[in-house]
Amino acid sequence: MAREHLIKPLVGHSYPVISHGKGVYLYDKAGKRYIDGSSGAITAGIGHGVPEIIAAMTKQAEQVAFVYRSQFTSEAAENLARKLADLAPGDMNWTFFVNSGTEATETAMKLAIQHYQEKGKKGKQKILSRWMSYHGITIGALSMSGHPLRRQRFVPLLEDYPSVSPPYCYRCPFHSSYPSCGVACAHELERVIEKVGADHIAAFIAEPIIGAAGGAITPPDGYYEQIRSICDAHDILFIADEVMTGLGRTGAMFAMEHWGVQPDIVALGKGMTAGYTPMAATMASDRVMEPIINGSRSVMSGHTFSANPLSAAVSLAVLEYIEKHGLVQEAAQKGAYLLEKLQSIQQNSHIIADVRGKGLLLGMELYSIPSARLLQIAADKGLLLYPAVAGRSGRDETALLIAPPLTITKDEMDELLEILQESILELEAEYIA
Ligand code: PLP
Repeated sequence: MAREHLIKPLVGHSYPVISHGKGVYLYDKAGKRYIDGSSGAITAGIGHGVPEIIAAMTKQAEQVAFVYRSQFTSEAAENLARKLADLAPGDMNWTFFVNSGTEATETAMKLAIQHYQEKGKKGKQKILSRWMSYHGITIGALSMSGHPLRRQRFVPLLEDYPSVSPPYCYRCPFHSSYPSCGVACAHELERVIEKVGADHIAAFIAEPIIGAAGGAITPPDGYYEQIRSICDAHDILFIADEVMTGLGRTGAMFAMEHWGVQPDIVALGKGMTAGYTPMAATMASDRVMEPIINGSRSVMSGHTFSANPLSAAVSLAVLEYIEKHGLVQEAAQKGAYLLEKLQSIQQNSHIIADVRGKGLLLGMELYSIPSARLLQIAADKGLLLYPAVAGRSGRDETALLIAPPLTITKDEMDELLEILQESILELEAEYIA
C-alpha cells in the first residue's frame, strides 16, 4: 500500500481522483466522465460548477468569510433565515444553523427537549423513531437512527429510540396491504407512546421519505395525518428530518407538503448548499420557540462554524437558483418521467423487486442481491448511484437511490437510464447464469 494519510471510507481502497465537475457530470484525473446519478449523497442538487454560486461565494469571501456567532451576526445568515421562513409552510419561522445533517437532527432533538424543560415538563427527554431510518452519525443522532449496520459497533452507548415500524408497504411489517391495513404502521406509534409513557417523550422523528435506510420508502396517503394527530393527542412534537428530502428534491419545497402535514421542527442539510460548502439547519415553529424565547432565551447547542457567512451566502444563491429555474416543479416532472421508465425496466427484469419514490428521490430494491455490485458495474460504465438498506432485516444493502441533480436534462436522463439498463442486464447475467 502506498503511504497514505487520508482516512477514506475504505482505507487502502483506490478511489478515483476527481479533477472537475460540470452540470450533472464529474470528470476524474484519468479523463473518465461520470453522470452523477445520485448527486453524490443526494446533495449536489443543482449540479456542479454553476457560475452564479461561485460568484456568490467569491463575493461573500471578499467581504467576510467567518464571524463567530456569539459575537456577530451577518447579513447572509439573517437573509437566509428569512428566506427559509418565507419558503417553509406555516409558522416555521425560526432557524438555527449548523454544519451537517447530523448536527441538524441532534439540534432538533435538543430543541424538543428544551421546549418541554422550559415549560416545566422535565421528564420529556426521549425521542421516538422508526426502524429503517437514518438521522445521523453522532451518538445522539445514531440513537435516533434505526440503521443496524451503522449502530452495531456502538450499541452499548446508544439509546433504544427506534421502536416504531416503518411504512414499508412493499414488505408490510403487518403483513397487510394498503388501504385495508388502515395504516397500521402509523397507529403503532400510539401503542409505543402508551407503553413508554407520553410524560417521558419529547418528540417523534421521521424522514418524510426514508432514504439511505430504506431506498426511498414512501408512506401511503393518510400516514402522516395519523402521525400528526397521535403526536398532538399526546403532547409530543413531530420532527421532520428533511435533510435528504428538503428544498425541492421530491417535487415540493418541503416533502411534508405532499401530505399537507405541518411538523413542529424540521432538519435540513445536503441540498441546502447543493454541496458547494457545508451547511445545515434546524427550523422550529413559533409554538416550539415560544417557551424558549419567554424563558432562558438561549438554545443550548451550537458550533464554531454555525451560521458561517460564506455558507449562508452560498445557500441563499442556491435557493434563488432553484426558484429562478423552477426546479421544484421540474423535479416533480422529471421524477415522474424517470419513475415511469424505471417501472418499465422493472417489468422486463428478474432482479428488481420494487421501484418507488417521489420527484427526483427514487429508489430501486433488488431481490436479495447486494446493490454494491450493481453500483460497481454502473460506475465502471460511468453512472454514479447511491446504496441503501432494504429487506425485512433492515441490514442488507439491497436497494439503491437514483437522485440526479434537479437540473438534469431529458437527454441526460435517457443516458442515465440506458447505462442503468445495461448494468442491470449485466448483473442479471451474473446471477441468473
Ligand atoms: N438525516 C438524513 C435523512 C440523512 O439522509 C442524512 C445523511 O445521509 C443525515 C441526517 C445526516 O447528514 P450528514 O451526513 O450531513 O451528517
